[in-house]
Amino acid sequence: MIYFDNAATTKPNREVLDTFVEVNEHLYFNPNSPHQNGDQTARLMTQSKAQIKSLLQLNDQTEVIFTSGATESNNMALKGIARHKQAFGKTIITSKLEHPSVLEVMRALADEGFNLEFVNVTKEGRIDLEHLESLLTQDVILVSCMHVNNITGQIQPVAQIASMLKQYPKVHFHVDAVQALGKVPLITEGVDTLSVSGHKFNGLKGQGLLITQNYHQLEPIIHGGGQELNLRSGTVNVPSNVAMVKAIRLALENQAELSHTLSELNQAIRDYVSQFRGIVINSDESASPHILNLSFPGVKGEVLVNAFSKRDVMISTTSACSSKHSSLNEVLLAMGIDEKNIEGSIRLSFGSLNTMAELEPFKKAFEEIYEEVEELLRK
Ligand code: PMP
Repeated sequence: MIYFDNAATTKPNREVLDTFVEVNEHLYFNPNSPHQNGDQTARLMTQSKAQIKSLLQLNDQTEVIFTSGATESNNMALKGIARHKQAFGKTIITSKLEHPSVLEVMRALADEGFNLEFVNVTKEGRIDLEHLESLLTQDVILVSCMHVNNITGQIQPVAQIASMLKQYPKVHFHVDAVQALGKVPLITEGVDTLSVSGHKFNGLKGQGLLITQNYHQLEPIIHGGGQELNLRSGTVNVPSNVAMVKAIRLALENQAELSHTLSELNQAIRDYVSQFRGIVINSDESASPHILNLSFPGVKGEVLVNAFSKRDVMISTTSACSSKHSSLNEVLLAMGIDEKNIEGSIRLSFGSLNTMAELEPFKKAFEEIYEEVEELLRK
């Protein structure tokens, strides 16, 4: 089986699984319990957060909040900050590049009365910085921009936005870094809140982080026992959190080598598919090497995914709607890609377990499928 769907999820690392089991066996206590086992577990949580801060080179004022994943982190940050800052302004800004866990939260905030503005997107799938600057009125309280796009792999100008926003101290800057950690250098300077998801870098599903510079400005969206700085009530999932620290450590240790391998694989696939008439590559050359978006214009993405699946190659479609607001993928639409290309788009996404040895079997499957659908291709 060739697994080229790592942007959807990755296989948990054995060491991460072992850590999860070990902590469950030996330190299953509640860190809020007043006895010595509780204290010991609480100390482990404090150490885990310190390790994350050191691994990600975060400054002393940063707080790390463990969550159930990036969907929760994004909800917590965006709703939390919008509600806190609503007396100072009503305008919130994002782009249509965002994952639904940002886009739909921003739309829900618009339904509550916030003024939602969308920044334009360049044809390479990047935020248009000039347009963003033109949207920065006195009323703006929040800007949300992802680090790496999950459909095309495009790397967003996070550092430039952070620097632009320095002149607007009222504006909170949120970054969804789900597809960035372990793949590209993480930008955290000037970022107020940042979301991470463990299962995208060989951690476990249901584990995430919200990293924040100003947690006291977030209104809690989950109320209860007051765990995680009163922002994320619920008994702390200690084994999962410790396992995620392990996953972060391994992802960062392997980042340079992974980037090298995936660049080679990505380039080899680009070179190969470009020889086929009618195939369009939607991911810009500057995108992160772990995501490659292609189109077979005139063919349906689902048909292609099934055809690859039958040949034991797991990939993903991007033509399916990612939002209830559009039947076509909103990211590709925002980039100005035409409908036929969007309908026939597929996403290959690579991870730490992929190797160059998969290139030849992938090429074989690709060629067979191309021959099958060639008639339909709009050339
Ligand atoms: N943001 C991006 C860019 C993603 O790719 C994903 C996962 N597809 C999420 C957020 C949601 O992460 P989680 O699965 O941890 O909720």
